[in-house]
Amino acid sequence: MKLDDATARVLSGTKVATEIREGLRPRVETFCRAAGRAPMLGLLLVGADPGSQIYVRNKIKASEGLGMATDLRRLPETASFDDVLDIVRSFNASAAHDGILVQSPLPVGLGAEAEQKIFDAIDPDKDVDGFHPVNVGRLVQKRPALTPCTPLGIIELLDRAQIEISGKRAVVIGRSDIVGKPIAMLLLHRNATVTVCHSKTVALARVASTADILVVAVGVPAFVTRAFVKPGATVIDVGTNPLTDRDRVEMIFGEGTMKMAAFEKRGTVLSGDVHPEVGSVAGALTPVPGGVGPLTIAMLLSNTVRAAEDRLSSDRRT
Ligand code: NAP
Repeated sequence: MKLDDATARVLSGTKVATEIREGLRPRVETFCRAAGRAPMLGLLLVGADPGSQIYVRNKIKASEGLGMATDLRRLPETASFDDVLDIVRSFNASAAHDGILVQSPLPVGLGAEAEQKIFDAIDPDKDVDGFHPVNVGRLVQKRPALTPCTPLGIIELLDRAQIEISGKRAVVIGRSDIVGKPIAMLLLHRNATVTVCHSKTVALARVASTADILVVAVGVPAFVTRAFVKPGATVIDVGTNPLTDRDRVEMIFGEGTMKMAAFEKRGTVLSGDVHPEVGSVAGALTPVPGGVGPLTIAMLLSNTVRAAEDRLSSDRRT
């Protein structure tokens, strides 16, 4: 089975991300008129990780494309923990910064717990990544919260594709703080019956194949095969795994496919966590790229606009 032969409905995150951004545009304009300034996202990039540079550039481009302001601060790889903390504190104290994003990963030299400590230092009301424990707690209690962007984007995608969540059986493979746990919580709040799987789950394929909605966030290329998928299920592939080994690309995608042609041209392609053969079993499937990825940035913009609006209305109350 080749990717190019897939029969599943393709759930385009690119299309939904455009709709989300266009929906935000009038809210940004209204905010600008009311506040006399644009909503502003403060970004902190520490070190020179190439992936992080690209992510930050894309986030800035998307924010500015919507008429939002950005403030990028850079620190060298050698920056101390206090250097990073100082910038976060200055963003917290600033009246003009509505959202704060510290690009992960931080350099290893800052220590094993640096990232958690830095995320904990962000003002929860400006925590547009939704990683602060206050926001995690609010999410668990189903109270208003800034929620991690990737899971929020998945729910938006399901809603806009009119895929019923309530009463359905959902299986999430992966239990990370940024994807697995929060998507499990959001699906639960929408009345799905949720099972969370991980590396110690026994009979994983059998458990996964009970799902009406299967969310895969594992970080292993083509991990989920046909055996994991109930015919007609909706499969959300969160994985973004760059492949540079020709044999591996050929083994996953097969000779003569569009992916193989893309690999021959660029020497690298992205693989999701879901094997292309799933396209012939699933009812609906997100592509990689063009699925969950664009939604993550769209929801970052959405969280920033929301944080700005909430701050403006609380300013008016005081
Ligand atoms: P992560 O923190 O590395 O967590 C991976 C999870 O997968 C863990 O819970 C792990 O289980 C589980 N796992 C690993 N191997 C497994 C196996 N053989 N069987 C069952 N479970 C297994 O990953 P993440 O941050 O959630 O990211 C997952 C993927 O999504 C990556 O490819 C990442 O690049 C991608 N991602 C994409 C976006 C986007 O916007 N498109 C956003 C975030 C992440 P244990 O807990 O037992 O170790």
